Amino acid sequence: MTTHVFHRTPERPAIATRARGIEITDAEGKTYIDSSGGAAVSCIGHGDPRVVEAIAKQAATVEYAHTGAFTSEPAEALAERLCRSTTLPLDKVFIVGSGSEAVETAVKMARGYHLARGDEGRHRVIARRQSYHGNTLGALARGGHVARRTPFLPMMPEALLVDPCFAYRHALPGETPEAYGLRAADSLEAEILRLGPDTVSAFLAETVVGATTGAVPPVPGYFRRIREICDRYGILMISDEVMCGVNRCGPFFAIEEDGAAPDIVTLGKGMGGGYQPIAAAMCTAAVHDAYSDAGRSFVNGHTYMAHPVACAAALAVQDVIRDDGLAARVAPMGEKLRQRLESRFGNHPNVGDIRGRGLFQAIEIVADRDDKTPFAASDGMAGRIFDACRDLGLLVYPGSGTVDGIRGDHLLVAPPYNVTEAQIDTIVARLGDGVDAGLAQVGR
Ligand code: PMP
Repeated sequence: MTTHVFHRTPERPAIATRARGIEITDAEGKTYIDSSGGAAVSCIGHGDPRVVEAIAKQAATVEYAHTGAFTSEPAEALAERLCRSTTLPLDKVFIVGSGSEAVETAVKMARGYHLARGDEGRHRVIARRQSYHGNTLGALARGGHVARRTPFLPMMPEALLVDPCFAYRHALPGETPEAYGLRAADSLEAEILRLGPDTVSAFLAETVVGATTGAVPPVPGYFRRIREICDRYGILMISDEVMCGVNRCGPFFAIEEDGAAPDIVTLGKGMGGGYQPIAAAMCTAAVHDAYSDAGRSFVNGHTYMAHPVACAAALAVQDVIRDDGLAARVAPMGEKLRQRLESRFGNHPNVGDIRGRGLFQAIEIVADRDDKTPFAASDGMAGRIFDACRDLGLLVYPGSGTVDGIRGDHLLVAPPYNVTEAQIDTIVARLGDGVDAGLAQVGR
């Protein structure tokens, strides 16, 4: 069949024709368990009639009104809901259409904050070598996703990237997690001093790393130290929770568990649960008030920002999370998922690490479990296993990141918060078969 859609891959993917609950069916009639909601997007499952109704109602009321002249009822209600949902002192919400836009917004918001305070020299954003912050050139420039950056390197400003917090690969033998966390965080201070503190605007980091290395949580104390360093040099701390936020790890924002309150937080995927494209950057009153105290506007706009239908959908998704008690399910169901992964892969010779928080879990595939040797890029392990799982009727989110020259293959499992125990059993059983089938293709 010919196609006029410019697909990312040379082959046209399957056509999705129906999505309900945790399942997606294609045009051939094959049904898959969507165990990761794409890239951890689907948080309440597909096809919830309450969200569909909210979308239809808003589309029939005000489908669009430009933000130059109007706000909308769903945008106001959604922003209020988000501020109430987190225990962090975040007070204002800038609503956009994608995670990349949210990150662009966050780094511009930080720059505008310093300008409003007369700190004109502060423009640099420091991020980490193990990170993905989005696909637009500005967000890509701040990330450390080697494969996604490489084709566009000549088009981007130099990235200022410090050590990641990735204990599996970087903790020294005998080093405690706490000592490792402080060592990793202190690389930020060294970079600030190298650049000159008066030139640095913000530090940007995913709380639990998603796309580059797969559900890597920080070690205890790491983000507390990051907060101290940011405070010491007047630098804003931005937490990118586009993937790990909105209860994906349990608390509304994952960083709530780490004892450090960021100045700006981005959120995306779980905000609209896939029902509409929507994301946001939230900030403290102090960041916002710097603008209002100086009588300044935030020069940053997108045609479809705070789109009323998207806001209505996201509000309905947040209603479903609240009404169905889904946030409280994440920790216990995440624990069950983790236990099943441990019992299936805990002694697997090619699974080097099982990690994550809440319903955000991953396995890392290695050639040698004992010395953590990765597979060669040419083996394409993550992709192979993804394909094998898909043939078995399971969708997972594959990734292969390179940090400091060491590559890794991982598979992410991030089911909706209403996943059942029986579904978790099926997911892990199929993933186990998919991993073994992928490995068999390379003679393992
Ligand atoms: N930040 C993080 C942490 C992400 O995981 C992603 C998407 N994977 C983005 C930003 C970019 O979001 P989007 O693809 O919606 O632009």
